Amino acid sequence: MSVFYKWGAGRDPGHPEIVDAYDSTLVTAEGEEILDAAAGAAVANLGHSPPDVADAMAEQAERVGYVSTSHFSVPSVESVGEKLASMTPDPLNAAFFVNSGSEAVESAIKLARDYHVARGEPTREAVIGRWASYHGSTLGALAASGNTGRRTTYDPLLRDWPKIGPAYPYRWDHEGSPEEQAIAAARELERLVRRRGPETVAAFIAEPVGGSSIPATRPHPAYYREIRRICSEYGLLFIADEVMVGFGRTGEPFACEGLGVTPDLMVLGKGLSAGYAPISAMMVADGVVETLEEHDHPFQHGHTYSGNPISAAVADRVLDRYTEDLFAAVRRRGRRLEETLEPLAEHPIVGEIRRVGLQVGVEFVADRETKAPFDPDADVADRIYDAALANGVYTYPGGGSVDGQAGDHLMLAPPLTVGDGDIETIGETVVSAVNRVADEEGY
Ligand code: PMP
Repeated sequence: MSVFYKWGAGRDPGHPEIVDAYDSTLVTAEGEEILDAAAGAAVANLGHSPPDVADAMAEQAERVGYVSTSHFSVPSVESVGEKLASMTPDPLNAAFFVNSGSEAVESAIKLARDYHVARGEPTREAVIGRWASYHGSTLGALAASGNTGRRTTYDPLLRDWPKIGPAYPYRWDHEGSPEEQAIAAARELERLVRRRGPETVAAFIAEPVGGSSIPATRPHPAYYREIRRICSEYGLLFIADEVMVGFGRTGEPFACEGLGVTPDLMVLGKGLSAGYAPISAMMVADGVVETLEEHDHPFQHGHTYSGNPISAAVADRVLDRYTEDLFAAVRRRGRRLEETLEPLAEHPIVGEIRRVGLQVGVEFVADRETKAPFDPDADVADRIYDAALANGVYTYPGGGSVDGQAGDHLMLAPPLTVGDGDIETIGETVVSAVNRVADEEGY
């Protein structure tokens, strides 16, 4: 074995080998076509292999492939920074570039600390996150994440930062109207900050709309209104992780906008280059930049490939494709995708079908009444994934390994450009995959 795969030996040998790709389609070495209903993990927003992006990459490679952005600037990087500053909500006007979502989260964790140290509050170090969340696989990002399945082995290496429960209305047991429940859930943060002492807490991090851990969860807007109030009142920076849901996935340019909340730091990845080159960014609010400048406090952080000119040239081209027309199409395509899943609405093993924009989460339960999840050892989501893939549709399974924090689920997040016919195929294939596994389970 010459490549050490994520899952180790035993799982990968069966993986299809992809040798070509176009639109929403992957082509295997055997010439079979697979419909990409997950866009990787919500990455390939513009579909596969558009020639204009390949041209941008080649043109930049021929001009300047690499310089250190610690000592030089390049036009492609400057251009992406300007575009991001105008796309993201005010006052997020400064972009810091790295290469992956995890690195962008690490940057935000460190910059939050810089901000407090510069202001003369060096005891602030904790970054509070939520259970059943995923912010990346590096040690800081994982410490801020609450996905227990991904953390277990590494727990001794991670800072012991506290967590609140997820924004997960389907499984909340708070009383009252949706608004009251949302406020009650957000106030968990306030209680935690008070208990730990605000002087020890640097930031709160959350995905505004649930991504791969609990896909397509969007709480009542009161939730983030309250989170914003708590962060401001207790001096925490609010870090919005839009690595998966930024750039139109929710039918808005950024999920925060749909929820009416403005973070202090926003992390972006995946859709920034739509998968064509590794690049991610941390957007920083004016007030944070000004604080660092006032105190002459440097940000001691960066990577060899921060602001890589070729990745930036790709992102520069990709950003031009994120137009209001595309976002309107995303909303329309998302509605249609949800309609194709209508046969699952009352299905005995489907607890909830959630959708935000063109991200759909189908949550599987052993019992619709009690919402009891399946035994993780039954691998229900993985088996549904396998059944759909056997019929030529790639989806994104998850959840069963998250210690019962989230049930088994499937995420659908096809390219934002997915064709109408492909949407129908995704729906039909997923419905029949769910039926098949439900039959096997005796429903
Ligand atoms: N944050 C979120 C919300 C993500 O979905 C991911 C990746 N799935 C990350 C961070 C980490 O990004 P990367 O894998 O590019 O490091």
